Amino acid sequence: MKILSVIGARPQFVKAAVVSAEIHNTPGVSEVLVHTGQHFDANMSQLFFEEMGIRQPQYNLGIHSLPHEEMVSQMQAGIERVIRDECPDWLLVYGDTDSTLAGAQAARACAVPLCHVEAGLRSFNPKMREEYNRIQTDKLSDVLFAPTTTAVRNLEHEGIDPKKIILTGDVMKDAALLFAPQARKPQVELPDEFVLCTLHRAENTDNPEILKELLLALEMVSQFVPVVLPLHPRTRQKMQEINYPIERSPILFIDPVGYLEMLYLLQHCRLVMTDSGGVQKEAYFAHKYCMTLREETEWVELCARGYNHLLGHNHIDIVSTVRNFLSMPPLFTDDLYGDGHAARKIVCELTKKGG
Ligand code: UDP
Repeated sequence: MKILSVIGARPQFVKAAVVSAEIHNTPGVSEVLVHTGQHFDANMSQLFFEEMGIRQPQYNLGIHSLPHEEMVSQMQAGIERVIRDECPDWLLVYGDTDSTLAGAQAARACAVPLCHVEAGLRSFNPKMREEYNRIQTDKLSDVLFAPTTTAVRNLEHEGIDPKKIILTGDVMKDAALLFAPQARKPQVELPDEFVLCTLHRAENTDNPEILKELLLALEMVSQFVPVVLPLHPRTRQKMQEINYPIERSPILFIDPVGYLEMLYLLQHCRLVMTDSGGVQKEAYFAHKYCMTLREETEWVELCARGYNHLLGHNHIDIVSTVRNFLSMPPLFTDDLYGDGHAARKIVCELTKKGG
């Protein structure tokens, strides 16, 4: 059985690290890895292949930095060419990026069965590009691997045939458990105590007023605890556009780090502030409270249990909540997101279904 996996963005490399390894270790199953090129900086792409031992993609389409529709259509055309050359039995996509949607549409156009890892997540915010990508991809999928029971329920509510939905647990938990012992200190000077922050969602970075408000909040938090922020290239660009003085800021900006360095930062921080999907769960895996710089989240179970707090972008709310949580002892009792073998379950299900 041959699986063609489409990846292109940082969170997909983390997920593929465990799923591709599982495919590789399964007799009778082979993988063709296609990198769309969506993320292309060395520290947003190649570093993950090196650190996490992901095999090099057989194809790199080199498509990036285009408006959404144009990027999806160019990627789709490239993936369709690979499908014609490779004749896969399955096409596998991850998450919610433009690469995900391009892979899904290519599978449909070429009549290749499609499976979606991380199906069923919903923010219920129709303005998010990611929400559009997820819903469209789920509609096109033949097998939907849902990480949580909430995701399963979301899909059922949308009328997806329950026979297509498989609850697997979350492959990001697999990755966090597998790589935690290899966590590595980044090559930068770190304060003894710090808050870890990541910021890259378009809704936060592309609106100058919101971006300024969030930076003000982080500057104010920096007055009582240092804030370490590995800076996503898109956020750097948006900060430059508003003339934010990156070099003179009290916020400790560092270059994006690899996954192993990120695990170290998660393990050693006081708490996490983020608008990332993946980092919200990784904060939980590391038993750190997470302050989410958004109005809504796909990972509602973390909010329901008090591990994650939706703070939006008002600087007063953010600063006072962070201050409160810094003095809270970490109380983490549940074991959410599966048993750390989601990737095995995914490959096993595909093997059962056959090519
Ligand atoms: N990540 C990383 N280095 C960084 C920032 C994030 O390795 O400097 C990892 C993070 O630990 C998680 C993944 O990238 O595994 C999440 O990606 P991102 O936040 O870009 O996307 P999202 O999860 O929001 O889709």
